[in-house]
Amino acid sequence: NQGLGSWPARRARRTPHRTALVQDDGGAPLTYDALHRRTVRLAHALRARGVRHGDRIAYLGPNHHTFLETLFAAGTLGAVFVPLNTRLTAAELGLQLRDCGPRVLVHAPSQRRPVAALPPQARPAVVLETGPHYESRLAEAVDDPLDEPVRPDDLCLIMYTSGTTGRPKGAMLTHANLTWNAVNVLIDHDLLATERALVTAPLFHAAGLGMITLPVLLKGATCVLAASFDPGRTLETIARHRITFMFGVPTMYELMCRHPAWQTADLSTLRLLTCGGAPVPARLVRACRERGLTLRQGYGMTEAGPGVLFPAAGHAATGEGSAGVPHFFTDVKVVRADLTEAAPGETGEILVRGPHVGPGYWGLPDATADAFTDGWLRTGDAARADPDGHLVIAGRIKDIYISGGENVCPAEVEEALLDHPDIADCAVIGVPDETWGETGLALVVPRPGAALDPERIPPFLARTLARYKIPRSVLVVDELPRTASGKLLKNRLRARYAPAAA
Ligand code: ATP
Ligand code: MG
Repeated sequence: NQGLGSWPARRARRTPHRTALVQDDGGAPLTYDALHRRTVRLAHALRARGVRHGDRIAYLGPNHHTFLETLFAAGTLGAVFVPLNTRLTAAELGLQLRDCGPRVLVHAPSQRRPVAALPPQARPAVVLETGPHYESRLAEAVDDPLDEPVRPDDLCLIMYTSGTTGRPKGAMLTHANLTWNAVNVLIDHDLLATERALVTAPLFHAAGLGMITLPVLLKGATCVLAASFDPGRTLETIARHRITFMFGVPTMYELMCRHPAWQTADLSTLRLLTCGGAPVPARLVRACRERGLTLRQGYGMTEAGPGVLFPAAGHAATGEGSAGVPHFFTDVKVVRADLTEAAPGETGEILVRGPHVGPGYWGLPDATADAFTDGWLRTGDAARADPDGHLVIAGRIKDIYISGGENVCPAEVEEALLDHPDIADCAVIGVPDETWGETGLALVVPRPGAALDPERIPPFLARTLARYKIPRSVLVVDELPRTASGKLLKNRLRARYAPAAA
């Protein structure tokens, strides 16, 4: 077995007694040896229930060691692991389950309700709840070594994208893709075997799995799993477990910085704080720096395993706003609409190539064909290169609008808005305009207790932005539609405020 399924066995051979997984709220830690044994037993139990090479096995639950056991057990059998998002409704889960047709669904006790409410056609043949039921399946299984032929190019994972731009698509990733991604992260994060990583970002999203958990396990270090995110508890966990490394989406760090315990918590063990998945406001990087911490922004997408860009060592301190350079085994280019390479400083679309980029979307040959050009993955995201070659993400290509013939990147305007002391959240979209073709509409959410005068926003922006970038209208709103992981749902804003352009 040359796939992910063999990792626990390989680790158990080298570092059997090291701690692999700990649950933040107690429970016995699992050593690599224990993780290996449990994985083998689970693989036997799954095989006894008819799972064969290529079958899908879905998992629905918060961060927990059974998530990783199921992933590795599936990999041991050459089956394909499908993590599901616990924030979806039963109807949404039903769509994904029908799309990938898993033979087995493993779920946490907390997910009993959505599982019971699944439409009958979406219900896998075997449903296994973690807890006593799962433990007895493990106890009755044998633990002879399993040696299924699994090759690096076999499919390992189908992971649904976040659904920011439309219905989530099942991104396929092979064993090799996930391994190369983990190797990239190991190299570029300078991970140590002594790392104690806090996994509070959901494992069912690409970043929680690929940007922290798998690289840490490959290295033989320790992951502390948190079932949910709470800023106060996270600060406590960092101190209690002497966490050295954490990944979060920007919203998580925003909430931590605003928490009363931010100034007093013992954060002295933290050496690596990484962030990505959505624009990382400069003010967040500054807030961390004022607390003596360096927040390093990366960029990636599910289809790429997911890591694409990360700051070079030593650059992070000045890396405000930049998402870095390509990972070690990654190639990136920025191209114009006609696919010719953009000049330094010119904004274009990011294309990615590398052994971690997946083969496309499950069951969607057309979307897969559209996603690639000449072997390069089209990200749909815009960026421009800094003078030192680091890329600054300029948002999604489709969000860019043209005002009086000039391209405006809403991400740049949003970044400027977030520097206003009274603005908590914001979004900028292009709306049709008779004179300019399109103009900007800014939707701003005031900070609690702040009296925000929309009239004063354009003059504020004029201090840093060219005139054509300044939104013609500013609307104060209570909140903005975001995914659970903090991504802005611009489709919904366009449908509401700019129906013609949506
Ligand atoms: P869908 O593909 O279903 O519409 P999605 O693209 O949001 O959803 P993900 O794969 O979870 O799904 O997210 C990848 C996207 O997140 C990238 O394409 C990019 O738009 C955004 N992103 C990731 N990192 C950053 C970053 N550092 N700054 C800005 N945007 C980022
Ligand atoms: Mg996407």
